[in-house]
Amino acid sequence: MDLHTPLVEFPGVGPARAKALAKLGLNTAGDLLEYFPRDYEDRRQIYDISEAPEGIPVCISALVAAPATTARIRKGLSISKCRIAGDFGTAEVTFFNQDYVRQALTVGQEYIFYGKVERFGSKRQMTNPAFERADKPRFTGRIMPVYPLTAGVSNNLLAGLALRAVEECAALVEDYLPPQVRQEHSLCTAEYSRCHVHFPGDEEALALARRRVVFEELFTLSCGMAFLRSRRGDVAGQPFPRADMGEFLALLPFAPTNAQRRAMEELAADLTGERPMNRLIQGDVGSGKTAVAAYAAWLAHRGGFQTAMMAPTEILARQHYETLTKLLAPAGIRVGLLTGSLKAAQKRAAHAALASGEVDLMVGTHALLSAGVEWANLGLVITDEQHRFGVGQRSALTSKAEKPPHVLVMSATPIPRTLALLIYGDLDVTIIDELPPGRTPIETYLIHENKRERMNNFVRKQVAEDHQVYVICPAVEEGEGSELKAVTAFARELAQKTFPDLRVAFVHGKLKSADKDQVMAAFAAGEVDVLVSTTVVEVGVDVPNASLMVIENADRFGLSQLHQLRGRVGRGQWQSYCILLSDNDAPETRERLKYFCQTTDGFKIAEKDLELRGPGDFFGQRQHGLPTLRSADLAGDTRVLKEAQQAAQELLATDPDLSAYPQLMARVRRLFSQEGDIFN
Ligand code: ADP
Ligand code: MG
Repeated sequence: MDLHTPLVEFPGVGPARAKALAKLGLNTAGDLLEYFPRDYEDRRQIYDISEAPEGIPVCISALVAAPATTARIRKGLSISKCRIAGDFGTAEVTFFNQDYVRQALTVGQEYIFYGKVERFGSKRQMTNPAFERADKPRFTGRIMPVYPLTAGVSNNLLAGLALRAVEECAALVEDYLPPQVRQEHSLCTAEYSRCHVHFPGDEEALALARRRVVFEELFTLSCGMAFLRSRRGDVAGQPFPRADMGEFLALLPFAPTNAQRRAMEELAADLTGERPMNRLIQGDVGSGKTAVAAYAAWLAHRGGFQTAMMAPTEILARQHYETLTKLLAPAGIRVGLLTGSLKAAQKRAAHAALASGEVDLMVGTHALLSAGVEWANLGLVITDEQHRFGVGQRSALTSKAEKPPHVLVMSATPIPRTLALLIYGDLDVTIIDELPPGRTPIETYLIHENKRERMNNFVRKQVAEDHQVYVICPAVEEGEGSELKAVTAFARELAQKTFPDLRVAFVHGKLKSADKDQVMAAFAAGEVDVLVSTTVVEVGVDVPNASLMVIENADRFGLSQLHQLRGRVGRGQWQSYCILLSDNDAPETRERLKYFCQTTDGFKIAEKDLELRGPGDFFGQRQHGLPTLRSADLAGDTRVLKEAQQAAQELLATDPDLSAYPQLMARVRRLFSQEGDIFN
């Protein structure tokens, strides 16, 4: 067996299981080694029945005392029972619908059972325990990995396969980290890390192994981003001619904030320079990024170039189209709209206008990327809410021009400074850290369930004052036994029982995009009072009339995500509110949510999020267009991140093409492979 051995060749894996495993991205032995546990169960302690703690899963060592018997209770239900005996006590073990245990359990043989021990009077009992022979333990007496799963793949199956892969192939994993990096950062070998990240010998071994796999991945990612950035330096762009900013400012209905003015100056310097711009503007919601983007488009037009402006949703594209038409049409700029929902004839017309240069600024969605779109003279690409686009999509659009166009990305997701370089490693960053004057800060409250009645009255009051309300739930549909509020059921309850007199609608990510847009449009038009939603409203929709956001099960959300959600209100001139509902009284949770109530600065909130929950959240949600990280769940330590970044920078400074490290370069390519081939 080697790293390339397909999983179908593993004992116990047939075509159906192989297919289920492939859904997790697992096709070969090597894939298994890189599929890291999300958690661990400590099964090291093995008890005698008489001493086992009750009510928590434990390992028990015992002999089978009498043959198991099976009784058929009714159709579809059989119960097998057997007695087991330890050194100082006995217990009864019960299995539901597992008739095979009659053959599997041999009288007189010693087994280890893993499960909960319960006591009924003087009798001890275990129900449906996992078990294996005591003379060849695999899943007991050790720290067990707990893997992310999918239908048809149990944790025992995965752990069994991983164990085999570790035993046979861990030594074959290539150590692609440069030796000096490994030494300088005191990292264990690749082999050690793969063995102990899956089946740790003890806590210390696990910490060592984990540090290595996290470092490896963050280092590879850092190299990739730094590589993209350094490679940009040598291409020639298309400089725009200089222009008087005053002429543009005269078009604005307001005076720019200092931060906006600074951003515009930085843009002008980039856009009139010889190298193509690659700049990110990060600014909290409402900080006025649109006006800054409009300035860039205006400069492009002055130079005779077209601009593409890409938004992640139809609604946002339409909103931008309207805002920018109003702002820029007086300067003679022809603004167009190209989205997926246009009729075929309209699309053809839009394409023709782009190809002939009759449109100067085309606003749109992903449709701007589609094959048939030709540009007469594309000079600038703007993407809004950048985190919804991958690095690869960004480069797909830039390849539409003969010479690389300038690229401006705008994001309202504040990223802690320690992460910004990594996440936006291939971009220069401008931060707009000032809101336009006259905004009233949103008031945020954390309440318990027992105040719901009062809160409902407050909802009514807002609606009576002609405002609108968002209600955010963490789930779409009700899961079994779940205490989480689910959009569909909760919306029904609100519409029928709580607010029968109000207009309630709902939206979530599983709806068809046309249906979603229709509901959002109705809400934007004021035809809906209360909108129940998942986090799909997180992305920049602008409904200034909404004055209240209620967030159910608020403890379920990360701080940065709460901040994004809260940004949907407070967009008009009236006082806005955010109410967090949570009955979770764990002190860390309370502290986190209270911090959120007191803080409105998105950057501070992001820093706090990083401090409390580690960088996993920032990587895990795939929000930022980064490749998915396999070790994201393990990436708890910001120090490793800083070390990995620094090591990558040092290495690239000595060898910008990584030509001495072909294995590392291959890993970089592989990590970014889902983004298309962007390193050519
Ligand atoms: P975001 O950064 O979230 O994209 P927008 O560009 O949509 O923010 O701006 C939010 C609102 O603030 C818009 O209604 C816009 O017209 C207004 N605005 C932007 N800049 C200023 C300013 N300097 N003074 C007053 N209002 C402004
Ligand atoms: Mg915006």
